[in-house]
Amino acid sequence: MTGLSKMKVVLLSYTRDADEICAAAGRSCYSEKPADEIIGTGNPEKTLNSIVGMGHYSVIEHAVFTFSVSGVSRSLTHQLVRHRVASFSQQSQRYVSLNKPDYVTPHTIADDPEISEIYKKAMEDIWDVYSKLSEKVPVEDARYILPNGCTTNITITMNARELLHFFALRCCERAQWEIREMAEEMLRLCKEVSPTIFRDAGPPCVTGPCPEGEKSCGHPKRVKKH
Ligand SMILES: Cc1cc2nc3c(=O)[nH]c(=O)nc-3n(C[C@H](O)[C@H](O)[C@H](O)COP(=O)(O)OP(=O)(O)OC[C@H]3O[C@@H](n4cnc5c(N)ncnc54)[C@H](O)[C@@H]3O)c2cc1C
Repeated sequence: MTGLSKMKVVLLSYTRDADEICAAAGRSCYSEKPADEIIGTGNPEKTLNSIVGMGHYSVIEHAVFTFSVSGVSRSLTHQLVRHRVASFSQQSQRYVSLNKPDYVTPHTIADDPEISEIYKKAMEDIWDVYSKLSEKVPVEDARYILPNGCTTNITITMNARELLHFFALRCCERAQWEIREMAEEMLRLCKEVSPTIFRDAGPPCVTGPCPEGEKSCGHPKRVKKH
């Protein structure tokens, strides 16, 4: 299920040769030579499968990825910032005045013309009050009227270990649709530049059984294919 959002996910910066660097860091633990002397000499896939497979996830913390995300709702970012092993810089509602209605419309609302009209009208009313309040009180107080659906921009930096954890939780069918859409796009971008580290990334059902028990979506085959 998707919504009408202007979501844009850009991989701003990332550790070049992340697979090679993490593999060299891993092999340096068992070598007389330092990472700079063994980088590029082994098979990164074999090394990472072996070391990370043993649970030494710290090796992939050497790879860092920064994303610029825009056109998503505050509802999404409220969930996103619960991930503590990450760095965030979010557009301020104290310093940036949101002059015109700018919000995400969930698919379920957009698909129903009657509900969609009610939603749109409510948003326009909210922004009308916001703009009246902004003339009388500081923007940081006027913003109390703004909704969860209000759009925002955020810059996210996570290392590969945290990203694997984030993708396991947020690419799962059980995750809320908007954050799942963003996580799936982040994963696609990560796979392009670091195919080994992110090869099996995604919800747990991609590589093993679903841990969600009774709350499982019940479609592991479909999720895996997706
Ligand atoms: C489908 C879904 C539904 C959710 N529903 C709710 C809900 O109803 N209510 C709600 O409040 N939240 C909810 N959450 C948020 C969830 O509880 C987590 O806060 C969020 O997913 C971040 O996960 P995390 O703490 O594992 O990740 P991170 O904060 O990124 O941490 C990564 C890992 O680091 C370790 N770590 C980080 N900080 C600590 C610490 N202080 N002590 C020990 N270990 C630490 C843990 O191993 C952790 O898994 C939901 C999340 C999902 C995916």
